[in-house]
Amino acid sequence: MNKDSEQHSSFFETLKRDYSENLILDTETLPDYARDASEINVRPSAIFFAENESEIIDVLKQCRAENIPIVFRGAGTGYTGGAVPVSGGLVLSLERMRKLEIDSKNRMARCGPGIITIELMKEAEKFGLFYPPDPASYDESVLGGNIAENAGGLHCKKYGVTKDYVIGLRAITVEGEIIKTGYYSRNDIFNLTSVLIGSEGLLAAITEIAVRLINLPVIGPTILASYSKPDEAASVVSEIIRLGIVPSVMEYMDGDAINCSNRYEKSIDIEKAEAILLLETTGENCRGEAKMIENICRQYNPVSLMFESDPVLAENLWKIRRNLSKAVKASVKYKIAEDVCVPPSKLPELVEFVSQLNNEYPIRINSYGHAGDGNLHVNFLTDNKEDLKNGLIKKGIVRLFRKTIELGGTLSGEHGIGLTKKDYLELEFNDDTIERMKDIKAVFDPNNLLNPGKMFPGKK
Ligand SMILES: Cc1cc2nc3c(=O)[nH]c(=O)nc-3n(C[C@H](O)[C@H](O)[C@H](O)COP(=O)(O)OP(=O)(O)OC[C@H]3O[C@@H](n4cnc5c(N)ncnc54)[C@H](O)[C@@H]3O)c2cc1C
Repeated sequence: MNKDSEQHSSFFETLKRDYSENLILDTETLPDYARDASEINVRPSAIFFAENESEIIDVLKQCRAENIPIVFRGAGTGYTGGAVPVSGGLVLSLERMRKLEIDSKNRMARCGPGIITIELMKEAEKFGLFYPPDPASYDESVLGGNIAENAGGLHCKKYGVTKDYVIGLRAITVEGEIIKTGYYSRNDIFNLTSVLIGSEGLLAAITEIAVRLINLPVIGPTILASYSKPDEAASVVSEIIRLGIVPSVMEYMDGDAINCSNRYEKSIDIEKAEAILLLETTGENCRGEAKMIENICRQYNPVSLMFESDPVLAENLWKIRRNLSKAVKASVKYKIAEDVCVPPSKLPELVEFVSQLNNEYPIRINSYGHAGDGNLHVNFLTDNKEDLKNGLIKKGIVRLFRKTIELGGTLSGEHGIGLTKKDYLELEFNDDTIERMKDIKAVFDPNNLLNPGKMFPGKK
């Protein structure tokens, strides 16, 4: 144990006297809290389960006085290592803060950061209301994590992402100050709500979230179209967008991803396909739009085309997509997941590039994603631990990122930067922009105690 860790451990022993129930010191008993979905493992010195703002203020002030690094945590489903602990530091979990109030008259909700995304959606539905941002992890991830990552989801093309629904936040800074933005101050002069959304736990703990809700839309049939070539499916996407049709869901999956999903749970019989599109329309003209989509799908020689209007049976089509992330993970020991995003018109080129990369590389590479937004999750898959160290995967990722930038896209469609993408930030932002972002971090957290070592590349 080094000197710092020794000092930290005596600090945590003292803190334990005040918080005997909420503070865990034998952190090896909770191994899930040493990682997120990136699977990077770092054991924290302590884990604190906050139940209210007063506790957070007190714990942050005490940590700040002792220079203890802190990592906020939601459900730990992040893919880029944002919730991975810092050695010798505290993990501050907000999952027990579970307020959920629907204000149906004002079509909004006030939520604690520990509410699981689907819980808000289901509660809103009881009032005929809809909270659209639905990451594929919606039955696990919590709202605090969704805000901190500005999560997207299956409905993002038509309805937008998390930031489009947040109308105000309460947050606690490392100094223990309470920030009230938007709805909680009735105004937002510097738009602090936007500053905190997507801040990946670097600026403050988000302790309450006000979101707007919309009317539950009429839902059209679920459509599943399969193709023998990935670029045929991608061309359907481009054509739908070119014609100005906006499906509520337009998900793309390649052949390897489909096989993984089928092996994980065979919810429908599907003929051998190298790509699938899963589509849904909503709104008054949902049936008309579904018909137009059917015509476009037929122009590109589908292997099969399915329609399902019964929501219970449609669930079998949805399962192929909803299961995907877990299914791909179950098919292999190591899954390095990237999420790039290009203008939708460039999706066929990106899909073709990934398919070429897969042919060239000695490891499996598959892809799927929210095609309506040009968002593609590209997974590098291997059973051999050596591949993680020998630079093979890293080279592939750099090639993917360069191609994405060349196509006018972004390195992170929705999963954030965290640990895994920080070294590539300079591919996307110029030095001046990165420096100003660092300045914002320094204003909120001058001693760099909140999620240190994340988001920004190290010194050259
Ligand atoms: C199966 C699967 C499917 C997924 N599908 C999608 C998808 O479709 N779209 C998408 O966008 N993402 C997706 N993700 C990624 C992930 O679910 C999202 O990024 C999600 O928003 C993370 O939420 P979380 O509660 O798990 O956050 P965590 O992983 O716990 O934390 C993520 C970041 O937020 C910070 N943080 C968490 N809570 C707070 C808080 N209260 N205050 C301040 N900072 C906080 C953490 O420090 C960390 O930096 C998927 C992940 C999995 C495993």
